[in-house]
Amino acid sequence: MLRRLAFLLVRFRKGLVGESQRTCHMVPIPAADEVPEQLTALCGLVIERGTAELVTPGEGMPCEACLLCVPFGSSPTS
Ligand SMILES: [Zn+2]
Repeated sequence: MLRRLAFLLVRFRKGLVGESQRTCHMVPIPAADEVPEQLTALCGLVIERGTAELVTPGEGMPCEACLLCVPFGSSPTS
């Protein structure tokens, strides 16, 4: 049985914040088909629409706070 993956990896777009703040946050996949105004990462960070980019799993530096919050057995979607 295939496991349904429930998270996206996102980070702030280049130029909006310093490189040290461009860690990859885990965001629950929105239920609606439309892009929401805000996304809230597992660590509590609120990301406004248009300020973030999707990240391929394995790329970039992960947010440690998000990693600590991820439910056991889950993994980011690609
Ligand atoms: Zn985070």
